[in-house]
Amino acid sequence: MKVGLIHDGRCMAHDTGYGHPERAERMKALIGHFDDIGLTEKLVRLEFEAAGVEVMGRIHSPQYVERVRQSIETGKSHIDTPDVPVCAASWEVACLGVGGMIRACDAVTSGEVNRAFCAMRPPGHHAEYDKAMGFCLFNNVAIGADYLLEKDGINRVAIVDFDVHHGNGTQHAFERRKDVLFISLHEHPRFQYPGMGFEHETGEGKGEGYTLNVPLMPESNDATVKRVFEEKVLPALETYEPDVVMVSAGFDAATADPLGHLEFTREGYEYMTRELVGIANRFAKGRIISTLEGGYDLHALADCAAGHVETLLT
Ligand SMILES: [Zn+2]
Repeated sequence: MKVGLIHDGRCMAHDTGYGHPERAERMKALIGHFDDIGLTEKLVRLEFEAAGVEVMGRIHSPQYVERVRQSIETGKSHIDTPDVPVCAASWEVACLGVGGMIRACDAVTSGEVNRAFCAMRPPGHHAEYDKAMGFCLFNNVAIGADYLLEKDGINRVAIVDFDVHHGNGTQHAFERRKDVLFISLHEHPRFQYPGMGFEHETGEGKGEGYTLNVPLMPESNDATVKRVFEEKVLPALETYEPDVVMVSAGFDAATADPLGHLEFTREGYEYMTRELVGIANRFAKGRIISTLEGGYDLHALADCAAGHVETLLT
C-alpha cells in the first residue's frame, strides 16, 4: 500500500514554552525515529501549502479564525486558555497543519496514495467552533472530514479517535450530522481532561446514533482495547460502511505517557490500526487518513506511531 507522509519541519517552530508537554521535541522524536528505522523512505512524501482562512471556516467561526490570527499577530501569549500558548510562528504553523490535512485528503481520494499520515502539530481534536482548547487551535481532522464529504462518491466518513483524551471538538462539529460517524476511545471523563465523552453522548437530532463514546477506566490495556473493538467499535463501523476512514491518532494512552493513565502498548496500537485497515479495505477502497493528535512520552510516541504507520503500509 502507498502511504503518504504529510510533514513539514516548520511545525517545530510552534513554541509552547518551557515545560509544556506539547513541544517541538515530540516531532523531532517521531520523525527522527521514522528516519532511523527506514520508515520515512517507505512513505510517499507529499508537498503541501498552508491553508487559507476559508478552509478553517468549514468548522470554525470566521470570528474565531480572525481572533486567532490577530492574537498571534499582536503577540498574545495564548489563545483562550493558558494551555494553548502561541508564539509568532504559530499562525503559519497552524495553517500549514490544516493545509497538510487537505493535501492528504486530495492525495488519498485521487488515488495518488492509498492512505496518509499527517505528522504535524499542534494537534486539533479539542478545538471547538469558536474556542481553542487543550493545546489545539484548529480541528484538522474535522476540517478534513467536512472537506472529504464534498467529493463525488464520499457520503460517509468515519473518524476513530484513540487519543487518551475525548475528541470534544470533533464530536461537537458533527454530533447533529449523520454523514460523519465519530468514535472516540478515551480515558473516562471522570478521571481525565476534558471531562466530556460519556457513553450517553450519542449524537443529537439527525445525528443521534452517529457518535460513539467508549470511555475506559484507568489502567485499561491492550486486552480492553481488543474487547471494546470487538464489542462496539467494529460493529459500529461495519454497520456504517464508511467511504473513508479517518484516525485521530493520539499516542497518549501508552503506558509511559505522563498525561494518561491507560496502559496501551505498541501492540495495542498495531491491533487497532490492523482492524481499521480491515474496515477500510472492506468498505472504503482502503482509504485511511490519519493525523497525529497527542502523545507526550517521546519514546512511546515514536515507537507507537511507527507501529501505527507500519501497519498502515500493509
Ligand atoms: Zn490527548
